[in-house]
Amino acid sequence: MSYDYPRPNLILSRCLELKACRYNGHVIRDQVVAALLPYINIIAVCPEEEIGLGTPRDPIRIVRDGQGYKLIQPATGSDITERMEQFANCYVSDLKDLDGAILKSRSPSCGIRDTKIFPKAEESTASGRGAGLFARQVRQQFPNFPIADEGRLASAAWREHFLTAIFTLARFHAETVADDISSLIEFQSRHKLLFMTYNQTRTRRLGRIVANQGRLPAQEVHDAYAVELPLIFARRPRPAAHINTQMHAFGFFSGKLTQAEKNHFMKLMNKYRSGLITAGVVNNLLGSWIVRLSEEYLAQQIYLQPFPDKLSRLPDSGRRRS
Ligand code: SF4
Repeated sequence: MSYDYPRPNLILSRCLELKACRYNGHVIRDQVVAALLPYINIIAVCPEEEIGLGTPRDPIRIVRDGQGYKLIQPATGSDITERMEQFANCYVSDLKDLDGAILKSRSPSCGIRDTKIFPKAEESTASGRGAGLFARQVRQQFPNFPIADEGRLASAAWREHFLTAIFTLARFHAETVADDISSLIEFQSRHKLLFMTYNQTRTRRLGRIVANQGRLPAQEVHDAYAVELPLIFARRPRPAAHINTQMHAFGFFSGKLTQAEKNHFMKLMNKYRSGLITAGVVNNLLGSWIVRLSEEYLAQQIYLQPFPDKLSRLPDSGRRRS
């Protein structure tokens, strides 16, 4: 079982592994991002450098301003909200065929969820947390796309989810053709087990789009599918959904396995159920049986290997089910 994996187009905060452009002149070393670089098309950006703040620079912070937010540099008193919003808006509007983003956590520009928000520029204590101003614009213009920060990607379970989503969107862009519905039918059929694991209602919705009972032009069908597809990855599947799919796949082999192999599978399932391993570990075992026992239908299914195998062997921070 070996697939070619198209490279996802990902926005990447430039200070992650690429350039020493943080306010203090440092670069962030991150094992997961480094491992991912050979597999992605990088759209590198440092919003603070792009708006001319220079490196090193005095730190900036988000300050609450009525219902909105301002981006302030306390040391100089500069309000750079408008510069950042204009840059972010133009930059993100120009992006095509985006498959996701990896942004630096806790940054007033790039943070996606945990950036400190201050009640006043001169306050030393934050009054809340939220997204940075550049990240807000990415979310607004690509509301349903996979976005992660390096902190979340340290968890193997989150990483599996994020990688599954970005590589599926990349496959969609690479393998389907706007004026050929048969390419969509093929795509839907190879992702059936994966989609059913994620969300059965949305899988059926995608199926209805592909079935095209309204006899719409192929381009319209393709566009509708492109809008619906990212929504299936809105939530990580529950472990019970993975277990259902894995038991279904196991059923294809059960008559061909030794008792010891069946016992080993059940032990792994129990470990997964208890949160000791990720779904990918069980899927690797199923994948090895596909190769040994030549199971054609499963070999076509993306579920068991939705992203390159090397990316499933990275360390885990242990926050599996949080
Ligand atoms: S977090 Fe964003 S703005 Fe800050 S240094 Fe990194 S890329 Fe630049």
